[in-house]
Amino acid sequence: MSTTNPVILSSSKDDVVLTPELLAKYEPVIGIECHVELKTVSKMFCGCPNAFGGEPNTKVCPVCLALPGALPVPNAAAIEHMIRAGLAFGATIPPHSKFDRKNYFYPDMPKNYQISQYDMPLTVGGVVRYWLDDGRRGECRLTRIHLEEDTGKSTHVGSTDGRLAASTSSLVDFNRAGVPLMECVSEPDIRSADEAVAYLETLARTFRELGVSDVKMEEGSLRCDANVSIRLRGATEYGTKAEIKNMNSFRSVRRAIESEIARQIQVVESGGRVIQETRGWDEAAGTTHSQRSKEQAHDYRYFPDPDLVPIDVSADDVARVRATLVETPYERYVRYVDTYGIDTKRATQLVDDHVLAAWFDAAVAASNNALATVAFVLGDLARLANESGTHVAQGKVTPAALAELVGLTQSNAINSKGAKQVLETLWTDGGSAQAIVEREGLAQVSDRGAVEAIVDEVLAANPKVVDDYRAGKTNVLGFLTGAVMKASRGKANPALAQDLLKEKLSSA
Ligand SMILES: [Zn+2]
Repeated sequence: MSTTNPVILSSSKDDVVLTPELLAKYEPVIGIECHVELKTVSKMFCGCPNAFGGEPNTKVCPVCLALPGALPVPNAAAIEHMIRAGLAFGATIPPHSKFDRKNYFYPDMPKNYQISQYDMPLTVGGVVRYWLDDGRRGECRLTRIHLEEDTGKSTHVGSTDGRLAASTSSLVDFNRAGVPLMECVSEPDIRSADEAVAYLETLARTFRELGVSDVKMEEGSLRCDANVSIRLRGATEYGTKAEIKNMNSFRSVRRAIESEIARQIQVVESGGRVIQETRGWDEAAGTTHSQRSKEQAHDYRYFPDPDLVPIDVSADDVARVRATLVETPYERYVRYVDTYGIDTKRATQLVDDHVLAAWFDAAVAASNNALATVAFVLGDLARLANESGTHVAQGKVTPAALAELVGLTQSNAINSKGAKQVLETLWTDGGSAQAIVEREGLAQVSDRGAVEAIVDEVLAANPKVVDDYRAGKTNVLGFLTGAVMKASRGKANPALAQDLLKEKLSSA
């Protein structure tokens, strides 16, 4: 968390000022539970469309409305997504798994139990490796990823803060009820709000890359809760944790965790005890508030769902899914940084657009020069793409043409100004970089005699500047180099031009 300004909790009677020293005295311990809607054509146990939005209660049927006699049938695509997600993080896929009923009352849950998984989830263990903005890396173990169904949605009419008040009424939309949901449960391996966000970003990137979810936060397809506790730095026992609910953006995750860490330190420092409870995050107030004491697993009376047979996942099924796995975003990031030497910021930019990253990989395979290629891809090429509103991968520049352009600059066949022109022509017309260089006469002049002739002309035309240089005003060299470039219509090799200028100016 930010340590530049001490945080003062104004709600407390005896304010505890959270100085950097006080913050350093405690170590936060954080575990994340995160729900991700799976991308499937139909819902988890019926044929209704799994699609966001639409008129309320139009994407429903007897199964997802839990009408008497309706029976669920599991969605095989959702189960395959689970196996794919688990394998991407190195989880174990047990051969036997089952669905359980989690019993609790919620007005937007038609059955009044949720079909979920309890003691036999589809995936067990695994590790999420992530990186932070400053390039540090970390990892967090997964306890499990299990499969369940989403609830519907309540809208509290007349309420301004989303909570129910006496004068309001509630509307229920079951379109989302029964949408397949995976819950990723982490071990308490996270030690800061920044790490929590980095962990979630990696989950989101990976699920998008795998095609198991679109992870649209604004549509609520990734929602998370955080278990937060603190302990004295160096302690081995865990403190009592509070569960923070209702965070629906990475920004609110960061703010909620920072606020909760501050609250717990304040409680402990003022002689109190943190109690185990569920706390809601209030985005507007920037604080968490107590909602209820935390329920235990036995409160839900889990039992195997008698409507659904146990799931057997064969070794062949696991092998078939494993064979389809590609490089994960984390592996790609590590390759860019460790093998190619690209900085964290630009590596992240590429990884976050996996279509662009694939295009970049194809260009590097042809150019064999990752750094020169990334400079074009995230520089002039990205600018041209932005200006025209066309993605690089949809444009007319092929990875092979860019690789050719990289080669021409590396061999000094064209200078950077010429390269810019070639790229612009490639963007508008496509074609080959070499052909454009020849057609437009952009080849860089590196012939010593030819450049020397221009240098002589420029020196002869600027006697006063030459005198200035010789009188010690060496900064006029830039002006003279510019004049040579102009006289050569941008084609002179700038380094050679400057060398020749220096040589002639100091020799006379
Ligand atoms: Zn349905």
